[in-house]
Amino acid sequence: MSALEGGEACATFGSGLAAVTAIFQGLQPGDHVLAPRDTYHGTANVLKHLFAKWNVSASFVDMTRVDDVAAALQPNTRIVWIETPSNPLLQCVDIVALADMAHQAGARAIADNTFASPVLQRPLELGCDMVMHATTKYLGGRSDVLGGAVVSKLNDDAFAQVRTAQLFGGGVPSPFDCWLVMRSLPTLPYRIQAHCANAMKVAQFLDSHPKVSAVHYPGLENNAFHALAKKQMSGFGGMLSFEVKAGKDAAMGVAQHVEIFTRATSLGGVESLIEHRASIEGPESKTPQGLLRVSVGLEHADDLIDDLSQALERVA
Ligand SMILES: *Cc1c(COP(=O)(O)O)cnc(C)c1O
Repeated sequence: MSALEGGEACATFGSGLAAVTAIFQGLQPGDHVLAPRDTYHGTANVLKHLFAKWNVSASFVDMTRVDDVAAALQPNTRIVWIETPSNPLLQCVDIVALADMAHQAGARAIADNTFASPVLQRPLELGCDMVMHATTKYLGGRSDVLGGAVVSKLNDDAFAQVRTAQLFGGGVPSPFDCWLVMRSLPTLPYRIQAHCANAMKVAQFLDSHPKVSAVHYPGLENNAFHALAKKQMSGFGGMLSFEVKAGKDAAMGVAQHVEIFTRATSLGGVESLIEHRASIEGPESKTPQGLLRVSVGLEHADDLIDDLSQALERVA
């Protein structure tokens, strides 16, 4: 993992969220974390429900707006959390600019690189101090393992604190789970290439479909984040989301009628997954009700397109 991300040190964990938690356990009471408004909801829960009561505060801002980030930095901000592309709208933020702003404010920049994988995006080379992964996703690649990793640019004091949290807190992965991830790493670059190619074809199909009002995929030239993604990524990834024009019930109908896609959370496996994101996120969710998130797998792209096509036919 260190070699893939270009870091000096790595600690692995029993899940992505155990890795996230270990990073924040290195903070002191009174410290502040700046995170994206559309942070992975599990990470937001860790900050809001575990760390807030230990007096580690967090604010959530729209990191696509550099001015909002500047205004939200506090004298006690110790971590700027970066997630790009984000979930579920696939918004991209400028890693170089954000890492720079973090450093000027005396904070560290840490990126959750789960969606992109180190094949497409290498945050340490773009100025981040640490990278976190849910190896549960593309790195495991088969939806049969839970795991997390933290790679640090330097084997420094901040990394020593992550290591201490891992060692004393016990959030370690099992040897078998490590073996499952190791099994998948040799195929990672080839799987990612195929995920990208399939996702592009599915995105183009959806983009031209009359029942679809929006497609969120940075690979599309009409996407607001296309230029930025092109600058900091070497490909656009296998994740996308789209909005069914007729709204929630029609979106639920599409998810119900697809036959190749499995209706499930998680992502990054060889099998394509689809989910109605707002239902997963619960009543506080700001995700559009007509939105479906798709993890495009390694089936034949034509089969995936045919499947979405017949499912869209059957709804309003
Ligand atoms: C899944 C995921 C996590 C959490 O990983 P788990 O292994 O499920 O705990 C964190 N960040 C992102 C972006 C994820 O997709």
